Amino acid sequence: MKNNKELSDLLVKWYYQNARKLPWRTVGGAHFDAYQVWISEIMLQQTTVKTVIGYFEKWMTRFPNLETLAQADIEEVLLYWQGLGYYTRARKIHECAKVLTQKYQGKFLRERKELLKLPGIGPYSASSILAFAFNQKETVIDGNVIRVISRLYGIETQVDKNKIFELGEHLTDEERPADYASGIMDLGATVCTPQNPKCLLCPWQKFCIANQKGLQDKIPLIKKPEKKSFEGYVHLIKDSQGRFLIRKRSEKGLLHGLYEFFWTKEKKPIFESSWQNKNQTVSHTFTHFHLTLHLIETHTDTPFSDGIFVSKEEFSNYPFSTLMKKVIQKI
Ligand code: SF4
Repeated sequence: MKNNKELSDLLVKWYYQNARKLPWRTVGGAHFDAYQVWISEIMLQQTTVKTVIGYFEKWMTRFPNLETLAQADIEEVLLYWQGLGYYTRARKIHECAKVLTQKYQGKFLRERKELLKLPGIGPYSASSILAFAFNQKETVIDGNVIRVISRLYGIETQVDKNKIFELGEHLTDEERPADYASGIMDLGATVCTPQNPKCLLCPWQKFCIANQKGLQDKIPLIKKPEKKSFEGYVHLIKDSQGRFLIRKRSEKGLLHGLYEFFWTKEKKPIFESSWQNKNQTVSHTFTHFHLTLHLIETHTDTPFSDGIFVSKEEFSNYPFSTLMKKVIQKI
């Protein structure tokens, strides 16, 4: 195995020739705008780069800086986040923008300790901001990096994130941390892919233990917890004008603050009116479970204190979860 400096030199050289062009990235050092780096990093958690690009561009058109974001209404922020899931992230981003504008003159902090005190900024986001926006030597570890490092060192046992972090820390380039961190992520995303890695194109091919032993398919070893499955019923409650009853979820709990159609775990009408099974379902996988909802249609003109009737054309004015957007597609 080469020493760490030689390995990181090889990687950075590869990166300069193969970097993905991304709107939140600068090749050859830090990005000029920590705000853009931060938003992209939060959006990229649990979402693919391809999906994030469209969201990021729309977001930056509407909220080009911390001030515009801090001044916006949370419901509008949620509308721009709609479809990315994990809505707590959007709420925290909004809170964080307010703190930064009110307490820190709209400037991003450059100290890890200080960054970690901000809403929604954990160790991973702090490392990313410091590496990509301020070119500080930080170890950025995501799923791609775990895969690359596990294969490079031929780790055949269950992934131990602390061990990966330690190895990643030693590999990180002292002088070009931003380029190194982007490089290892790009390597994982484009060459050292989960299936069929393109080892012939890899700058670390000669030194990679998984490649030498032919163990690319077996590494990394990650045990995923089994997800439980649940079922329920969506009640499409229509009034005589053909409008649908929706409600806002409480300010706490899963998907809080978003709008939804009424749904229950039990198959029973919410109003004493006839209901009709539409023989349609929508399914969604959350972090820890799968949910399948059966669609039921009922009719009433009774006002409901917990909800409002809106027409199909008005759906776009309300932030819905991805699950509820699937229901809208069925409608
Ligand atoms: S040689 Fe293959 S398995 Fe090893 S790091 Fe490169 S792409 Fe991944």
